Amino acid sequence: MERADIRATGGCLCGAVRYEVHGGLMPVINCHCSKCRRFHGHVGAYTATRRENLILVKTSGLKWYRSIQDETPDVHRGFCQECGSSLFWDPRGKQNISIAAGSIDPPTNLLTERHVWLAQKSDYYTVSDGLLQHFEGFARADNEHREGQP
Ligand SMILES: [Zn+2]
Ligand SMILES: [Zn+2]
Repeated sequence: MERADIRATGGCLCGAVRYEVHGGLMPVINCHCSKCRRFHGHVGAYTATRRENLILVKTSGLKWYRSIQDETPDVHRGFCQECGSSLFWDPRGKQNISIAAGSIDPPTNLLTERHVWLAQKSDYYTVSDGLLQHFEGFARADNEHREGQP
């Protein structure tokens, strides 16, 4: 692919995982579920893209954890086994893959749109930013390509 196709770049803290996104990124969703909180150490903030848009350019640190605790079937969570950075939420067999928004090199040109899984939120923080809140999940439309379309 040509450099001009790159919508975003990102990676882990130590550099053992790097990726490029060659296509549209979706608005950021904050997930408060118990799995994301454990995986990220707090709320999980994700953008997403069609999986063919995500190009892994350095994978020496990349490890996949099959998250059988997730409500969604066959989810694998990707992280760097060198530095521990939480990077990907991958529902295998679905069109989109979610990317931890904090791992994208700024400026991301993304906006946070909504909160999901308030039903599983922890009790040490409040959500008061006025964004949409969902008690449970919110399925992104597979063709949703609004924010940051190149
Ligand atoms: Zn790393
Ligand atoms: Zn979650």
